[in-house]
Formats: sequence, structure tokens, C-alpha cells
Amino acid sequence: MDCLFCRIVAGEIAARTLYEDDQLLAFHDIGPQAPVHFLVIPKRHIASLDRLTEADRPLAGHLLYTAQRLAMEQGCAEGFRLVMNCNDLGGQTVQHIHMHVLGQRQLHWPPG
Ligand code: 5GP
Ligand code: ZN
Repeated sequence: MDCLFCRIVAGEIAARTLYEDDQLLAFHDIGPQAPVHFLVIPKRHIASLDRLTEADRPLAGHLLYTAQRLAMEQGCAEGFRLVMNCNDLGGQTVQHIHMHVLGQRQLHWPPG
């Protein structure tokens, strides 16, 4: 298995887990860009956002809702940002779909 995040799901690489259910895993980012910065991923390997299929609609909704709930639990009620980088031009470096959740600092726009 050569996917970093699949290896985290399998427990082969340690991560600071925030949340887990049958479909999703959430863990703190190893290089936080804000006081709160964690990732929410599907346990099933999906390489990138452009690989989602019609059948993944419920999973995508579950991912979005879970990210929002965890942001609240992490003290981000004043505001937060969700980011999904897709492929090279989108700045994706790990080829397993993931939602960044960033909060507890002022975030700016446009992103770099
Ligand atoms: P991307 O650039 O693909 O959108 O984001 C990948 C994220 O994964 C980066 O924010 C990076 O810090 C994080 N990351 C990379 N390797 C690891 C790791 O081994 N453990 C954790 N917890 N995060 C990682
Ligand atoms: Zn994977």
C-alpha cells in the first residue's frame, strides 16, 4: 500500500485522531497552518475530488457535515475554512481525498 493516508487509516502510520466512524477518519495535520488544522478523509481510497462518482454523493455529504461538526467541537464557532485541493494545479500533495479544516485565526482571501 503506497498511499500515505490509507496507511494512516490502517494504523500503520500514527496520527492524532479526532474522530472515526465506519466511513471517515479525522486527524490533526502534521504541519498545521492555523491553531486548528485537521483533515477529514474517507477511509476508502479515492485519489482526488475529481474521482468522486454519483454513488459517492452520500459520502460527500457526510464528509462535509462531519467537518462542520468537528469544527464546532474544536472551538471554531466564530468562523473556519474548509479546503479541498484537487490535483497539481489545485496544490494537492497527498493523493487521497481530504478536507482541510482551518480555524482559530483570521483567514484571508484570495489564497496563495
Ligand atoms: P494537500 O497539500 O494534499 O492538500 O494536503 C496534504 C496535507 O497532509 C498537508 O497539509 C500536510 O501537512 C499533511 N500531511 C502530510 N503528511 C502527513 C502525515 O504523515 N500525517 C499528518 N497528520 N498529516 C500529513
Ligand atoms: Zn489512500
